[in-house]
Amino acid sequence: MANIFGYFSNDIGIDLGTANTLVYVKDKGIVLREPSVVALDTVSRKVRAVGDEAKRMLGRTPGNITAIRPMKDGVIADFDVTEAMLRYFIRKVSSGFRAPPRVVIAIPSGITEVEKRAVKESAMHAGARDVITIPEPMAAAIGVGLPIDEPAANMIVDIGGGTTEIAIISLNGIVFSKSIRVAGDELDSAIIDYMKRAYNLLIGERTAEEIKMRIGSAYPLDEELTMEVKGRDSVAGLPKTIHITSQEVREALADTIASIVDAVRVTLERCPPELSADLVDRGFVMAGGGALIRGIDKLLSDKTGLPVTVSDDPLSAVANGTGAVLNDLSWLMQNA
Ligand code: ADP
Ligand code: MG
Repeated sequence: MANIFGYFSNDIGIDLGTANTLVYVKDKGIVLREPSVVALDTVSRKVRAVGDEAKRMLGRTPGNITAIRPMKDGVIADFDVTEAMLRYFIRKVSSGFRAPPRVVIAIPSGITEVEKRAVKESAMHAGARDVITIPEPMAAAIGVGLPIDEPAANMIVDIGGGTTEIAIISLNGIVFSKSIRVAGDELDSAIIDYMKRAYNLLIGERTAEEIKMRIGSAYPLDEELTMEVKGRDSVAGLPKTIHITSQEVREALADTIASIVDAVRVTLERCPPELSADLVDRGFVMAGGGALIRGIDKLLSDKTGLPVTVSDDPLSAVANGTGAVLNDLSWLMQNA
């Protein structure tokens, strides 16, 4: 919609994820992707850093700074901090805008009405002209290009940092969705626990995440991998280096991955029969950073008997979905 000056304002779409926030600027694409992390001064509660800079501080802060993830479990742990984070991201991308942006925000589907209102207000305080929220799995389904307007089952499994969101969508509406607080973070914790148990090695969240990304898997690999891991020996108290294999990491991740598989199966069990029939051929699409775990598609396909596809750029699916929505305002008017 052109404004009174006759040009299009730079509307933006935001994927407010539990691990990462992405911002899509209309006609430009994704212009920002940063961790959903805020570093605060412990005493004054003043914001010291947001995003990449704050994430580097996680686990490495002196007593006077705390780095927190306000969306960690798919609920807003701290409204003020979430607002500060949103404001930072919105201002960062909109400094050159000639008019206040209209903002579409994708939020975890488990969020309450109160939290949703808080997100909207935060975005307004941050300078938005208008704010519309859409459920994350809906944005993900649009972002990966599923034909959600058809009268047929479109299923998406989005494994993020704090939550896994599973939804079946037909005729632009969510028929059934399930959000569990088991996703990438829980996989990291499982690795931390394993290292402690098996090697008396204490490692931090960042190291655990690195292990998961480099050699984590859900299904046996054609060629198994190894990695050197550094941490602190819990008995001797000193820094220590060990070597681990991808088989060990797979074992460490197995229970957590089984919970995700279970949630997918429960969703399928709740699916109305006509839509189940659609899924036999159409299968489902995976999005979110967790879709990048090696072999997770193969495992899910084995356990459900359905075809499973990992979307092209799973970390960008939701942001691309908000971008697509910005381009189709009529869709917004009818479905928001
Ligand atoms: P959210 O939408 O909750 O912010 P994302 O979709 O951005 O989450 O995904 C973040 C999660 O994906 C993190 O737990 C991260 O460790 C995980 N992740 C990212 N890349 C990979 C990878 N290559 N392999 C395994 N996990 C990954
Ligand atoms: Mg996400």
